[in-house]
Amino acid sequence: MSDCIFCKIASGDIPAKKAFEDDDMVVFHDINPVAPVHLLAIPKKHIASLADAEPADALVMGKLLQTGARLAVEQGCTDGFRTLINTGRVGRQEVYHLHIHFVGGPDVLPPMLKR
Ligand code: 5GP
Ligand code: ZN
Repeated sequence: MSDCIFCKIASGDIPAKKAFEDDDMVVFHDINPVAPVHLLAIPKKHIASLADAEPADALVMGKLLQTGARLAVEQGCTDGFRTLINTGRVGRQEVYHLHIHFVGGPDVLPPMLKR
């Protein structure tokens, strides 16, 4: 997708602070972090949202979770972190290239949703 900002980060066309990269995926630091650690894990393949993922994408989605979790711990989330995927309008997704947020740090995070 030529106009997708995360495709451009995956290809290196726009810079990002990358924590991991292989043939299938990239993990990089969110430009506007909400906590001391805020990583985004993306597939290099353009998948618009979690709702658009197909059975063939299951392997890379597992890699995103496992690798992102390892990096979150390495970056300081030794006592836990939050893993989040916003999907579509209702989920307030802003960038339409599937990404998993890994958020944490030394302090306990606020509740996820107000009841
Ligand atoms: P969403 O709301 O779609 O789940 O989250 C998109 C995230 O991407 C936001 O947390 C935002 O700060 C981050 N983001 C948007 N544009 C860029 C960018 O150009 N570089 C980086 N590193 N993060 C970005
Ligand atoms: Zn994309």
